[in-house]
Amino acid sequence: MAKNVFQDPEKTLYPKLPKIEDIDPKDRGMVKTKLQVFTADDPIGPKLSYNPINREDQDPWKDFREIMRIEWNMEITYRHSLGKYSKFFIELENKKFFATECPKCGFVWAIPRPVCPDCLEICKWKELPGTGTLVSFSVSEFVPGFMDVETPYVLAMVKMDGADSLFTHQLRNWGTERTKIKTGMPVKVVYTKEPVIHPMLLMWYEPA
Ligand SMILES: [Zn+2]
Repeated sequence: MAKNVFQDPEKTLYPKLPKIEDIDPKDRGMVKTKLQVFTADDPIGPKLSYNPINREDQDPWKDFREIMRIEWNMEITYRHSLGKYSKFFIELENKKFFATECPKCGFVWAIPRPVCPDCLEICKWKELPGTGTLVSFSVSEFVPGFMDVETPYVLAMVKMDGADSLFTHQLRNWGTERTKIKTGMPVKVVYTKEPVIHPMLLMWYEPA
C-alpha cells in the first residue's frame, strides 16, 4: 500500500512557487494581468513514481501542473438589506440599544424579533438601558484570519437588563487576568468612537 503523503512531514504537499518575474506585457496574450507561466513540481513527488498513475508518461493530469500567475486585486461591495432589523443597527449609531417586546406575552427579545415566535404577534420596539449580567462566555486563543481582532477573544452571552432572552457579543477591556471574567458579573454595552466596516461592530460589552 502506498505511503500516505499527508502523513509524511518531510514532504511538501504543495509545490514551492518560483519567484515572480514579470513577463513582457506584449507576451501576455489575451490575459492582461498575466505575470508568469511556469511548471510546478509534482505535488505527489518522485517517491511514488512506482505507482503507474504517477509516471510522467502515463499521467493524464501532468498538464495541470502548468500554472499561470496573474495579478488580480479584488474589491467587493456587499449590498444587503437589514430589513426589519434596520432600526436596531441605526439606533446603535445613536448609542441606543433596542430590543423588541411582544404585546401579547410581554416577552422582551434581545436579539430583536419582528414577530414573537411564540405568539406570532408583531412585536414593538423597546429601548434597553444597555446594562446586563454575564451568563456564559468562551475564550478563544485563535480566531479565523478574516477576523481583525486581538486574542484572546472573549465571546459573552449576556442577559440584558429589561430583556428576557440572551444577547451574544464580544467582551473587551476585561483586563489581563481571565480569572476575573466570571459569570454573574455586571457588563455594559460600549459603543465605538471609530468608524466600522459593519454595523454589528458598532458595539461590544465591557465590565460595568
Ligand atoms: Zn409573545
